[in-house]
Amino acid sequence: MKLDVDVLRYLSREDFRVLTAVEMGMRNHEIVPSVLIDRIASLKHGGTYKVLKNLLKHKLLHHDASKYDGFRLTYLGYDFLAIKTMVNRGVFTAVGRQIGVGKESDIFEVSREDGTIMAMKLHRLGRTSFRAVKSKRDYLRHRNNYNWLYLSRLAALKEYAFMKALEEHGFPVPNSVDCNRHCVVMSLVQGYPLVQVKELQNPEVVFETILGLIIRLAEHGLIHCDFNEFNIMIDDDEKVTMIDFPQMVSVSHRNAQMYFDRDVECIYKFFGKRFKLTFEEQDDNVDASEVDTDESSRPSFSSINKTAGFLDKELAASGFTRKEQDEIERVCDSSLVELPPFKCVVVLSDIEEDAGDEGEGTEDNGHESELNKTTIKDLGSLQLKEEEPTSSH
Ligand code: ADP
Ligand code: MG
Repeated sequence: MKLDVDVLRYLSREDFRVLTAVEMGMRNHEIVPSVLIDRIASLKHGGTYKVLKNLLKHKLLHHDASKYDGFRLTYLGYDFLAIKTMVNRGVFTAVGRQIGVGKESDIFEVSREDGTIMAMKLHRLGRTSFRAVKSKRDYLRHRNNYNWLYLSRLAALKEYAFMKALEEHGFPVPNSVDCNRHCVVMSLVQGYPLVQVKELQNPEVVFETILGLIIRLAEHGLIHCDFNEFNIMIDDDEKVTMIDFPQMVSVSHRNAQMYFDRDVECIYKFFGKRFKLTFEEQDDNVDASEVDTDESSRPSFSSINKTAGFLDKELAASGFTRKEQDEIERVCDSSLVELPPFKCVVVLSDIEEDAGDEGEGTEDNGHESELNKTTIKDLGSLQLKEEEPTSSH
């Protein structure tokens, strides 16, 4: 998706006021009636309507007059609100090129004033799974504000909370920097997704490291649930960093065993296929928990000494409540079960350099972390002193 942040520079305080009014209206309206937007924004002399036209022109809003005259935010409009808040907070001053398109996110490089480059993940929950979720009438019946906006915000909040907690427990994850709405800012991983790597000096060591991570996560009470070659980054020293946490679940989840086994299976399959590792399979007839765990046998969920409670204690401390955890788990459940995992993940550098290779990787792993100077959009001149209004008046 195109994110033309240039437009941001030309938006006035009134533009943001009206955009925020639409966001507030969307808490309980799928389409926000124009009169309500006008009332929330309370611009002088009916200025709201002129501003709405401008926002519509820049595709920050969508107009819908099918039932009544109203508007809703587009992804772009929501992006702008989050980016503006981040700029106001001094988190970053410029947005660079897009470095990743995930299943349910877009990833951009952003830069601090001092030139430090970080990664900004804009969650798009709903891009693939919302349709599946929408069919879940039971769950939706009692929620009228259940929309992509809410889901994407929840996904970002969860990702941020997990990243922070995992970081504090010494897991190799990006450093969490900040979170607002559907946007998470984190350190840029100096590496490439494993899916792009064709050769490793020490595939066995990397394999053991990755399996070790799955086990250590479970010992901490967690399962990644999407642990595969797209969500494992690897650098030139073959150091592993794991990313992408919105779908993580607790080991007490009713499908925990299935998710755990699937994560393990993904890694075995990938390393067998890509790096030709061979594995001694254990006898299926023997209870896994009774098997002496030598290095060649698969980790079994039941034999791991799991610490429950990690989620509740640590994540609640970082602002992500149990209720929110339950809500997003239900959404992720439906997408995990009903949709194939890691469907259309594309890394842009890949397309340019290796378009004919079925997205399977580049020859030279050429992920340059340097910001492309021609695409950098400096937001330094933005006059964005005020945080968005917090209440309707
Ligand atoms: P999704 O949840 O949509 O799958 P991911 O978090 O997996 O999104 O990110 C998609 C892609 O963006 C990754 O495969 C990776 O190439 C890139 N990416 C994500 N986070 C970072 C980061 N912190 N540093 C560098 N690249 C990243
Ligand atoms: Mg991913």
